[in-house]
Amino acid sequence: MLELLRELKDKNVNTVTILVMGKGGVGKSSTVNSIIGERVMAVSAFQSEGPRPVMVSRSKEGFTFNIIDTPGIVEGGYVNDQALDLIKKFLLNKTIDVLLYVDRLDAYRVDNLDKQVVRAITDSFGKEIWRRGLVILTHAQLSPPDGLNYDDFFSRRSEALLKVVRGGARIKNREIEDYSLPVVLVENSGRCNKNDFDEKIVPNGTAWIPNLVKTVADTVSNGSKSILVDKKLIEGPNPNQRGKLLIPIILAIQYFFIIKPIQGWIEKDVKNERKPAWELQDVDFAEQE
Ligand code: GDP
Ligand code: MG
Repeated sequence: MLELLRELKDKNVNTVTILVMGKGGVGKSSTVNSIIGERVMAVSAFQSEGPRPVMVSRSKEGFTFNIIDTPGIVEGGYVNDQALDLIKKFLLNKTIDVLLYVDRLDAYRVDNLDKQVVRAITDSFGKEIWRRGLVILTHAQLSPPDGLNYDDFFSRRSEALLKVVRGGARIKNREIEDYSLPVVLVENSGRCNKNDFDEKIVPNGTAWIPNLVKTVADTVSNGSKSILVDKKLIEGPNPNQRGKLLIPIILAIQYFFIIKPIQGWIEKDVKNERKPAWELQDVDFAEQE
């Protein structure tokens, strides 16, 4: 954190707010603890995280650092809209400088659920939040399967995940350059290897905390705007509300083009009918027998 302070002071930034999101159990809270350097968040191997986001703030020498840990937004294989709404309410009137999208390095596949989570973030805060996005891969201390070397494994996992993130964020091929989406390795385990300076390192030798801090600082100053979460953003026209606007129009169309004509036919029928309808029915029955 002190390193971040130093990096950003040079760039005239005095507040940084980081939003941490991702599925449950991927290591969001652990990563927050690692960054803060204290055990501020409850970490659990069994998804018993609280339903609410938590913000930790630290100030020093006129610089404020905020980091917001959120509960996973997936439940029963789907994005939980209620959990998402809680996060949106919590973030109201806050400004997001950086989004950390967290997943695990040691997950060997990506699926539609990952895309849905990214899509939910995109629909909540706008596509532009991904200009301020970092992909974090936890559990970085691993031996790759299938005899792959570490760098190859890392780049394959990154590419697979980035593809899904870009899809979920609706980033088109020609826009890839505008959304740099750096992928950063993280190892929160106490058994993480260290270098001669007692810094935690990931298997490719990088001291991951300084590397993460540097990537955050670069992202803050990459020329894109921070995301102000205001009422307009989170209540803005979503597909549902647009749908609601259409309801009266659809009802009117139904009335004039379906109900009216049918009423017309019925009236015409009734006029043309000599005998009442029940009498005709009787005749039908009689013939059937
Ligand atoms: P969250 O649900 O995304 O907040 O995930 P947690 O931070 O609560 O972590 C879930 C479990 O994974 C806990 O048992 C953590 O100790 C463990 N964990 C988190 N990050 C790492 C990591 O980088 N390496 C290892 N080995 N375990 C981790
Ligand atoms: Mg958590």
